[in-house]
Amino acid sequence: MNLADKITLCEVGPRDGLQNEARLFSAEEKVELINQMMEAGFKVIEVGSFVSPKAVPQMANTDEVFRALKPPADVELRALIANARGVDRAVECGCRKVKLNVSASKAHNLANLNRTPEESVAGFKECVDKAAANGIAVSGSISMAFGSPWDREIPIQDVKDIVNAYLNVGVTEISLSDASGMAYPSQVYNMCTEMMREFPQVEWWLHFHNTRGLGVANIVAGMEAGVRNFDTSFAGVGGCPFVPGAAGNVSTEDVVHMCDEMGVKTGIDLDKAMEISRRVAELVGHPTDSYLLRAGKSKDLIRELPKGQLKNQVKAK
Ligand code: ZN
Repeated sequence: MNLADKITLCEVGPRDGLQNEARLFSAEEKVELINQMMEAGFKVIEVGSFVSPKAVPQMANTDEVFRALKPPADVELRALIANARGVDRAVECGCRKVKLNVSASKAHNLANLNRTPEESVAGFKECVDKAAANGIAVSGSISMAFGSPWDREIPIQDVKDIVNAYLNVGVTEISLSDASGMAYPSQVYNMCTEMMREFPQVEWWLHFHNTRGLGVANIVAGMEAGVRNFDTSFAGVGGCPFVPGAAGNVSTEDVVHMCDEMGVKTGIDLDKAMEISRRVAELVGHPTDSYLLRAGKSKDLIRELPKGQLKNQVKAK
């Protein structure tokens, strides 16, 4: 297999996970979790979003959280924004990296914003210029890139048009997101292979929701194609308000465990990551979509059989 030596995981739980939870997390709780993540080795964390607190009350304290965090120089803390007001809020609270998002679905975008996805991205120019003037880095995300409830699969040319629109406004770090949980491994492999060949200047990210249990398989397919950056969420919390039955992002600990088993370095301490996820699962107060939290690590199963046990088992048969 064409496995990576090393990949980067972005922990998106504080944003994508918690924004879909009924329980509102205080700024103190978020700061404590994010500090633990930095200690566990995460180098990229999506802390929250600068969007309307009326629309997403779970993210209303994002500014406060940023003000309280003191990340080391090699840690990137990012936030999702929807418009230039988001850049203003980033400047005010010391956030150094923002992420824009557009839906790859023409139908979805036209119904919501009365614009095509490319028109939306062209409209991001103001955000990108403002961010650049303030020393803030910008990345772009394309949600529903692998399919949407309104279009089924998105033609790859449509996704390429959006990538070009991002490049036109100066964004070269792009995430292909499967918010609808419709991506499957061969599609991911083919799309990533083609995108990487056609746009070698882009730093690619993949963002999978585990709605139909394919999150981990899709990550392996992306890795096989050469992608090295993936989003995951602690305990697998999250969802998507537009998609019926949407599950959270693929769980961080499941992906770190898989990488540990395959010898792919993530730089993340799995025991510490599991401790954080256990705490999150406790705080949200419901079972979450994490295999590792249910079953533990494979390595922990290896123990010596007590003497005589095998013989007794044979006899009992
Ligand atoms: Zn998501």
